[in-house]
Amino acid sequence: MRRVAIFLGSADGHDPAHAELAIGVGKELARRGIGIVYGGGRRGLMGTIADSALEAGGEVVGVMPTSMVEREWAHEDVTELVTCDSMHERKALMADRADAFVALPGGLGTLEEIFEVWSWRQLGFHSKPVGFLDAGGFWTPLLDALQGLVDSGFLDASTLRDAAVAPDLPGLLDALEDRLRSAPHPAHGA
Ligand code: AMP
Repeated sequence: MRRVAIFLGSADGHDPAHAELAIGVGKELARRGIGIVYGGGRRGLMGTIADSALEAGGEVVGVMPTSMVEREWAHEDVTELVTCDSMHERKALMADRADAFVALPGGLGTLEEIFEVWSWRQLGFHSKPVGFLDAGGFWTPLLDALQGLVDSGFLDASTLRDAAVAPDLPGLLDALEDRLRSAPHPAHGA
């Protein structure tokens, strides 16, 4: 895995553990020589993970629509800041440049981004694995709600299992690597 797309909050969240998590993930990815692709923001956990990876000598690629850069939302010191015209283009560029997708704690933007790449994987539009870093059980309520979709017949159990979930980064990277090595998800038909 050369580069991972990270979706995470543009806010810090109330619990300081979230920022500690982002710092640890940024540092560890840099140590492993794995680059980060993210939304290019300087605020919240987005800024924190970028700072941490850059400080540890890692590669950080930010992708942001020009209108957001003009509002001074961009991190100014990333390795590369890719600008584009729309949020759709931004997500496509991020997806192209990453080998896997990971959600850290975040809000609506984070959910929207991870669900998009996950649903596209389900449909076979790409075969890059998707994962949730479930530190402190942050994503457990969401994953429980998704189990409800399985129970009601709207989500395949195999699709839910297809998302890598681990409480720490080493465990999550192992699970993503497993999925990269294995055949495409059966629901893809690919
Ligand atoms: P949220 O989880 O709602 O804070 O949104 C974070 C996600 O949406 C990030 O992964 C970004 O790609 C995008 N995003 C939302 N707000 C911002 C912002 N102020 N600066 C940069 N990206 C943002």
